[in-house]
Amino acid sequence: IALYRAKAEGRNTFRHYVPGMDEALTRRSRLERDLHAALGGTGGLTMHYQPILRSADGTLCGFEALMRWHHPELGLVPPSEFIPLAEETGRIVALGAFALHEACRAAARWPEELRVAVNVSALQLRQPGLEQTVLAALAGAQLPAARLEIEITESILVEDDPVSLSCLQRLKALGVCIALDDFGTGYSSLSYLRRFPFDRIKIDRSFIRDIADPDTAAIVGAIVGMAAHFGATVTAEGVETQAQREAVRLLACAEMQGYLFGRPVPAREAEDAIGRHAGRKAA
Ligand code: C2E
Ligand code: MG
Ligand code: MG
Ligand code: MG
Repeated sequence: IALYRAKAEGRNTFRHYVPGMDEALTRRSRLERDLHAALGGTGGLTMHYQPILRSADGTLCGFEALMRWHHPELGLVPPSEFIPLAEETGRIVALGAFALHEACRAAARWPEELRVAVNVSALQLRQPGLEQTVLAALAGAQLPAARLEIEITESILVEDDPVSLSCLQRLKALGVCIALDDFGTGYSSLSYLRRFPFDRIKIDRSFIRDIADPDTAAIVGAIVGMAAHFGATVTAEGVETQAQREAVRLLACAEMQGYLFGRPVPAREAEDAIGRHAGRKAA
C-alpha cells in the first residue's frame, strides 16, 4: 500500500523514506511474487492440523486446518503476514482452494466421527465459485459434507453482503457446518447472529486468556447461553492452561482448542495424535 501511495503522490514522496521501509517493501514484493510459486508444490505451502476436543470428556472432535508457508530462503512466514497479502492480490482464492483440497484429503484418512475445519476468507466468500470448489474438494476426497466445517471471521459480515450470505446458505444446504471464528473481536455486532444460523461459535482466545477474571467469565457464559438459544455449539479457542480448561468446562463451552492439547502439526503427526487418543479411549 505504501508503495502505491508513494507512486500516486509522485516521485518526490520517495524523499520521505523511513529507515527500514526499503526492506519492508522488498520483503513484501518478494513474498507476493513467491506466493505464486509456493502454490506450485515446491514453494513450501502446507496445511497443519490442530486438535479440537470435547470439553466434557476430552475426546477428540476433529482438527482445524491452518496454512503454513516455509519460504525456501526466508523461513517460516506467519499466516498473519501472508494471508492479508494473498487477500490484497486475489491470490487467496487459489490458496483457499488448496486449503480445502488438502484438508478434505487429510480428513478422509481419519475416523469418520472426526471433522476438519477450514478457514475461509471474506474474499473467497464474495467471489462466485466457492461452492464449486467445496464440492470438488469433497468429491475428490470422497468426504461427506457433514465432516467439513467452514470457519469465517465475523468481520466478514460487517458489510452485510448478500452475496456472502447466500453463499453460506448454499454451503449449509450441502450439509457443511458453518462456524463463526474469533467471536467477540473486531467490529462484532450481535445482530450477525440473527442474520445467519451458525452451527458453531468460536470464542476468541483473548477471552480465554482472561477467563480467571469474573467479568470475562460472565461474558463467556453469556455467549454460551446465547449460542444455545440459536442452536449453535461453542468452541473455546486458545486454551493454554489446566485452569483455563477447567473454567471452559464449567462454563459449558462444548469444545476446546489450544496449545494445552496440541499445536498445529503436519497431517502425519495429526494421524499419530488420533492413534494416541484412540488408545487412551480404549484403555
Ligand atoms: P484462526 O482461524 O483464529 O486460528 C487460530 C490461531 O490461533 C492459529 O494461528 C493457531 O495456531 C493459534 N492458536 C491455537 N491455539 C492457541 C493457543 O493456545 N495460544 C495461542 N497464543 N495461539 C493459539 P495461526 O495458525 O498463526 O493462524 C492465524 C490466522 O491466520 C488464523 O486464525 C486464520 O484467521 C488465518 N489462517 C490460517 N490458515 C488459513 C487458511 O488456510 N485460510 C485462511 N483464509 N486463513 C487462514
Ligand atoms: Mg479459525
Ligand atoms: Mg480466522
Ligand atoms: Mg480463531
